Amino acid sequence: MPALVRCDEPAARGECLAQALRYVEFAIHELGCDDSALHNLAVSLYSSQGDEAELISYLSRAKGPLGRPLYDQKFALRLARERNRERACVQLLSDMGMFQDATALALRVDVELAKEVAERPEDDPPMRRKLWLAVARHVIDAGEEGGDSQAARIRQAVAFLKETSGLLKIEDILPFFPDFVRIDEFKDAICSSLEEYNRQIDHLRDEMDSATEIADVLRKDLAAVEKSCAVVDVNMPCERCRRPLSKGPPPSAGPSGGCLSPFYVFPCRSVFHSTCLAEEVSELVGESKRLRIRQLMERLAATPTGAETAAANNGLAPRDAVVSVLQQLEDLIAAECPRCGEVVIRLLEKPLIQDGEEEIASWAVAG
Ligand SMILES: [Zn+2]
Ligand SMILES: [Zn+2]
Repeated sequence: MPALVRCDEPAARGECLAQALRYVEFAIHELGCDDSALHNLAVSLYSSQGDEAELISYLSRAKGPLGRPLYDQKFALRLARERNRERACVQLLSDMGMFQDATALALRVDVELAKEVAERPEDDPPMRRKLWLAVARHVIDAGEEGGDSQAARIRQAVAFLKETSGLLKIEDILPFFPDFVRIDEFKDAICSSLEEYNRQIDHLRDEMDSATEIADVLRKDLAAVEKSCAVVDVNMPCERCRRPLSKGPPPSAGPSGGCLSPFYVFPCRSVFHSTCLAEEVSELVGESKRLRIRQLMERLAATPTGAETAAANNGLAPRDAVVSVLQQLEDLIAAECPRCGEVVIRLLEKPLIQDGEEEIASWAVAG
């Protein structure tokens, strides 16, 4: 190997370089060698050759299974710089993720190469835009220096916009032109850009219209539900205690009577005694809501039918109107059917057993 490295010295170029490359290629292709020292030597030998193409093709080939290069990138970049291998430099820089440097260098070499680099950060559109803007600036400045007529430059710039596949718009590159440029030449490009915006606005307007329509329908539905009435047979059984509505809830069920409504009907046709409904909902909600329901129920049950103000709560609460207390209770228990509403559906996520470890232990499989 040290002998081969000597072949890369300027004094020993020529036949020696060709033979050294032959050996290195043999070691890489036939022996499958992936030693970085050998690959760094390969970079050095290829970069000594007159033709840059072989170096570039080697640089993109010599990668490990995960796409990691087998040579030292920084070493290769330094060599390529020293030996003026500009295309190789561009490739190395963009391999290393330094796209802005790569684009800037590529613009000195070849605009087409710069466009290729600008397309490379595939999953980073803002970066791609930045790179394309740099290329655009270069294209426009180059036209100016080249003494092209203004019309020709503008035509060139507009054609360039199409290459950016929509990443750049006419308004992005306008600032690159001198202030006194005549706008006539841009007419077509500006018109097509405006048309595009118009289309987007139309699309948004359509979406807004359909959203408004849906909201209207929902509002009407809600209004209809509020006004709807259901005919209930007093012999229908309560969903919870199965006793007919006319009979009232079982005495063990909790506070009833007074200003409480005797029963509730839901749009799904489930009927409940209000006491049964309060019990059913209490099993589904948290501790604080359960307490609140209990308080409101007791208060309403203690208020005689026909009274305007609700009975005092332990002598502490202000004298609220019955309707407002009833409304509070209904918000808690009658907003939706406890058998098919959202509250039960949310319960599906809860584990079946949650009453401490004893219960879980009793289900354990002996063994
Ligand atoms: Zn009942
Ligand atoms: Zn229901």
